[in-house]
Amino acid sequence: MIDTHCHLQDRVFEDDRAEVVERARDAGVRAMLTVGEDLADSRAAVEVARRYGIVAAVGIHPHEAANAPQDIAGELSPLLREDGAVALGEIGLDYYYDHSPRDVQVRVFREQLRIARDSASPAIFHQRDAFDEFTRILREEWKPAMRGVVHCFTGTPAQARVLCDEFGLFLGIGGVLTFPKAESVRDAVRDVGIGALVLETDCPYLAPVPKRGKRNEPAYVTHTAAKLAELLAVPLDEVVCATDANAFKLFGI
Ligand SMILES: [Zn+2]
Repeated sequence: MIDTHCHLQDRVFEDDRAEVVERARDAGVRAMLTVGEDLADSRAAVEVARRYGIVAAVGIHPHEAANAPQDIAGELSPLLREDGAVALGEIGLDYYYDHSPRDVQVRVFREQLRIARDSASPAIFHQRDAFDEFTRILREEWKPAMRGVVHCFTGTPAQARVLCDEFGLFLGIGGVLTFPKAESVRDAVRDVGIGALVLETDCPYLAPVPKRGKRNEPAYVTHTAAKLAELLAVPLDEVVCATDANAFKLFGI
């Protein structure tokens, strides 16, 4: 089992990071990808990855677009070449919170898509309330050889189809799958099937039921995996096997 999206460099793990990683390994989580949100956070992600034998992604989250460095490629490209850095992320658009102006989000997103393309790195996408703009930009920038995942997918079956069929993207499935109201996500997951899915926690956020409301951690990805097995009516080991294979295709982990 692989947690393809966590934030283990977050300061909420400062006091017990080693125990958190150990609990995950004891629970059968054999790899974790810790994801950066701005330049300093990306550096911290690479450090944590190196220290705990996990992997990292480096990138500028749409929330942080307004604070992006002048020369994004000049800052991110060397980080991407560090040991343990396997992807660019998280990048994208968030028109729900609008923490950064939309035109700035778009510019920073496009620049990072080009870094992903030029470095042949997989991309980890954050998209919220910006589906049309997000896919419009991908139509202009995406190349068939590129790989990526829309993390914390919470859209409709029709949106899932566009992401998977048109762009060959994977969907990151986390704790939301276990939430009572997330019927459309469950419909989308049934519709696209296990071949397009990877597991994630997005910890410390979005803990799955029965841990909902608590600090999330990679070990809890087991609850999402179990829910996915139940939903698709397949054995748990089939879910683990398929999502691990997808994570390998995407990230080489
Ligand atoms: Zn995240």
